[in-house]
Amino acid sequence: MTGARSFAYEALPMRVVMGPGVLTRLPEELDRAGLERVLVLCSPPQQELGKTVAQLIGDRAVGVHPHARMHVPVETAAAARDLATKLGADGCVAVGGGSAIGLGKAIALKYGLKIIAVPTTYAGSEMTSVWGLTENGQKRTGKDLRVLPTSVLYDPELTLSLPATASATSGMNAIAHAVEALYAPDASPVISLMAEEGVRSLATALPTVVADPQDLLARSDAQYGAWLCGACLGATTMSLHHKLCHTLGGTLDLPHAETHTVVLPHALAYNQPAAPKAVAALGRALGGFTDPATALWDLGGRLGVPRSLREIGMEKDDIGRVVDLALAHPYANPREITADGLTGLLTRAWSGEAPVA
Ligand code: NAD
Repeated sequence: MTGARSFAYEALPMRVVMGPGVLTRLPEELDRAGLERVLVLCSPPQQELGKTVAQLIGDRAVGVHPHARMHVPVETAAAARDLATKLGADGCVAVGGGSAIGLGKAIALKYGLKIIAVPTTYAGSEMTSVWGLTENGQKRTGKDLRVLPTSVLYDPELTLSLPATASATSGMNAIAHAVEALYAPDASPVISLMAEEGVRSLATALPTVVADPQDLLARSDAQYGAWLCGACLGATTMSLHHKLCHTLGGTLDLPHAETHTVVLPHALAYNQPAAPKAVAALGRALGGFTDPATALWDLGGRLGVPRSLREIGMEKDDIGRVVDLALAHPYANPREITADGLTGLLTRAWSGEAPVA
């Protein structure tokens, strides 16, 4: 029957606890998961937070490993796995952004250890079963339910220290997950509701977060939006935008959240003509706009985030290479991807022009 609903939806088995101060409930989460010997993982700048977490856990913390790095280099993963084995760890607490959680996933992928995630950015890795490992400049990714965290503790107090610009780019990174979930080949009504609410919550909260990074209410709303957007990423297949960012990050080593921030309005503008339902949902979420790509571009301007690939380190000569790589393997996208279309998109994104459909 024309117009009848048709979709598949699969809930991921995980527990989410959110609220100011919920970090103190970490020992209860270890009880629930039956963990007795956990290794705490974090990035080098968050070593003090890692130690605080270990103190909170007490005797059940067997060590703090503050060596998480962006995109999980295989050497970093091997060192963390060796340490987990040496210490007889039966689980990990990953505290930090996508890098710390990614390192936990690398251990879980090999040894099946349970992960409890305590995210401190808006990147969303904690909500997905996607892992990534980087070797010789090439990032491999895959999906495996063993890397999905058992519990996620979202404590907005831990995000107060995330600098204003990093908060804004991380928030735009989260919004990108929801945007692509809305036109994904495996989109579903539940995920589309989450996507719209996630974008609404982040787009409303981020200007306040940037104006006053200590505003706990805005931090709480931003984190709520990031959770929803992360859930969208975990539940659907991403398209052109994520493919381009993956290529730009992996091949040219451009910074993750900033790359997403710059590319998003352009990738959305490219896909808008072929994704009317997504345009309608995003228009509502962003306050009644008919052109959400331009609305996101304007939001970036108000947040003071980078709006060109040039300013985050890309050379213009690399555009051709990125176009070739992005065309090398087919993937789902609502609109046909052409070399001319991609070249125009990337040229505008590189120079910092406004998006064009
Ligand atoms: P990140 O984890 O590298 O964090 C960026 C920097 O911010 C780090 O130096 C970190 O120590 C610091 N930081 C984090 N939280 C802070 C806080 N509250 N206060 C002060 N400093 C803080 O970056 P990210 O953007 O969170 O994650 C990016 C990585 O995650 C990439 O490797 C990306 O590929 C991966 N990722 C994976 C998935 C997935 O589903 N597998 C999803 C999203 C991102």
